[in-house]
Amino acid sequence: MRVAMIGSGYVGLVSGACFADFGHDVVCVDKDPSKIERLNNGIMPIYEPGLEQLVTGNARAGRLTFTTDLAEGIKGAEAVFIAVGTPSRRGDGHADLSYVHAAAKEIAEALEGYTVIVNKSTVPVGTGDEVERIIREANPQADFAVVSNPEFLREGAAIGDFKRPDRIVIGTQDDRAKAVMTELYRPLFLNQSPLLFMGRRSAEITKYAANAFLATKITFINEMADLCEAVGGNVQDVARGIGLDNRIGGKFLNAGPGYGGSCFPKDTLALVKTAQDAGSPVRIVETVAAVNEDRKRAMAQKVIALAGGDVRGKVVAILGLTFKPNTDDMRDSPAIPIIEVLQAAGAIIRAHDPEGETQARLVLTNVEYCANPWDALTDADVAALVTEWDAFRALDLDRIKAVMKTPAMADLRNVYRPEEMARRGITYVGIGR
Ligand code: NAD
Repeated sequence: MRVAMIGSGYVGLVSGACFADFGHDVVCVDKDPSKIERLNNGIMPIYEPGLEQLVTGNARAGRLTFTTDLAEGIKGAEAVFIAVGTPSRRGDGHADLSYVHAAAKEIAEALEGYTVIVNKSTVPVGTGDEVERIIREANPQADFAVVSNPEFLREGAAIGDFKRPDRIVIGTQDDRAKAVMTELYRPLFLNQSPLLFMGRRSAEITKYAANAFLATKITFINEMADLCEAVGGNVQDVARGIGLDNRIGGKFLNAGPGYGGSCFPKDTLALVKTAQDAGSPVRIVETVAAVNEDRKRAMAQKVIALAGGDVRGKVVAILGLTFKPNTDDMRDSPAIPIIEVLQAAGAIIRAHDPEGETQARLVLTNVEYCANPWDALTDADVAALVTEWDAFRALDLDRIKAVMKTPAMADLRNVYRPEEMARRGITYVGIGR
């Protein structure tokens, strides 16, 4: 099938490359010429494990091409995906739909023949109706259907998630669109990934409900961690104790510095706004968002306390900047507020991240970026492990003790065991233990 992907970011590029890998003929469109130029030269604009091989292999096979020309890109496409960004709108937390609306208008003007417009961006309920209205207004003759097909992939594991999803959600009542979507996802259906058809509004809500639920799970265990610290418990034991209950499940029960990333913070906020506007507030999610916001700053205080209550003029080594491992994505990373609070308290920040430095430089100033963890740790007064990259999981603890000015670590991901740190003479604080 001919497929066009509008927006070639984390979701568009991965989805486009995976569809091409299934044998579809895919054009990835992006309005950012530097992104397209890099892709045409086999250079990945983002870091995602396995992506380079997937993209270059399918490009070489002629199934995956890149262009900035949307009209050219959607020519002959049976399905046109919208995979553009939906960031938080400045000031009010609603999803900013300007990119989606602009893409819809551009698509409308170039439509020929029956086309399924598939919204893969995370968008508030009712956006499908609005996209349909925009297209109808811009091109009254167009023959099309608008489908909601939210994406659930995780950065860092995006290709595996796309190719082996827990489920595929498709929101449409249009029979022709159903047939196109079924054909498109047939390779996955053969893998027995369930294809769930539902109404468009239900599909739109499903995506926000999923993210809000996961954010709630993380926030719940984070509060249990605080309780463990206050009364003497071990949150990892508690997490295992509840996670083995099938009704709860063990995933997303790792206590940490608060959720971040390109989705949970903005999607919880957008859901809160949608629900308020609808007169049906989601008070649990409102609380989750507020608790999580406070938590990131509280993490900086943990580091300050470990440094004896004062970090003025002290060197803090930050290990990990991205919101999670195996991505270069810095959007809403907890590292940002943690570092900003430490800087405001007078700390000198030295940081290392295996893949995030380029993105981090765009959002964090006055940071000395180091090529490896040891350059960051040497002569540091205190260390904070913020992102659990594999490279930080088995650091030589004797060496940490030897190179730091005062060996002290705030392990915000519970990578190390308190007993082993104590044995090595490293002052240590984790989360909820
Ligand atoms: P992104 O910022 O990485 O990519 C969006 C791309 O769209 C950019 O490259 C931008 O230049 C391009 N673009 C914007 N308007 C365009 C237009 N009119 N024509 C062509 N290109 C255009 O964003 P992302 O992380 O890929 O997220 C995309 C959507 O998917 C968002 O709604 C997000 O919430 C959702 N989502 C993201 C993830 C994730 O892990 N990143 C997971 C699931 C869902």
